[in-house]
Amino acid sequence: KKIIIAIDGFSSTGKSTIAKQLATALAYIYVDTGAMYRAVTLYAMRKGFIDEHHFEVNDLVAALDEIHLSFTYNEKVGFAEMYLNGENVEKEIRTLQVSDYVSKVAAVPEVRYQLVKQQQQMGKEKGIVMDGRDIGTVVFPNAELKIFMTASPEKRAIRRYKELIDKGDDVKYEDVLRNVQNRDYIDSHREDSPLRKAEGAVTIDNSDMGLKEQFERILSLAQR
Ligand code: C5P
Repeated sequence: KKIIIAIDGFSSTGKSTIAKQLATALAYIYVDTGAMYRAVTLYAMRKGFIDEHHFEVNDLVAALDEIHLSFTYNEKVGFAEMYLNGENVEKEIRTLQVSDYVSKVAAVPEVRYQLVKQQQQMGKEKGIVMDGRDIGTVVFPNAELKIFMTASPEKRAIRRYKELIDKGDDVKYEDVLRNVQNRDYIDSHREDSPLRKAEGAVTIDNSDMGLKEQFERILSLAQR
């Protein structure tokens, strides 16, 4: 029987890596909700609604109807890529600059309302792995399997730093660590659906756990 798997947790805990592997193994659809918040952030940056000095929340809220998000499966990479108004933005939404602003954008209740609605629509058909911050608490409180992933901020910053360097981004470890800690703080302190462990969620602390072990653990939970 096909189920809904909700994976929540802090940034750079490897949620998306595990979620993609699970989706492939189970022939499920994978939805990266962080990519949706990132795409809205990219839109706001391009429009000049947000930069390091200011954030025109009202302008963004007024423009929400003009933001069309979709996922299209790319066979070459093996997962669905993020499209913003018809443009593939998969690469652009992963920069440190987008990461710096995304938690502010994600704290806007109107933004969350819109995206949660779209995410719930995607779950109409079972057989879905969705990762984010509020999947088990808000989007699918009745998900058959809920996972909460954590790891120390330093471990997560190192992983993220290596990823960015491998992509050719010129970043400093200290800046990445600061971004990770900043996002943790904003994500767990916002008024509207703060990041927290959902009721009934299984915690996976992968500070010292390999990918294979995590994958097998979660897969066996999914197949119970
Ligand atoms: O998962 P990822 O790190 O790409 O998410 C980027 C940001 O989007 C998070 O730091 C968080 O602020 C926001 N987010 C959210 N709710 C989700 C997914 C992501 O608020 N379901």
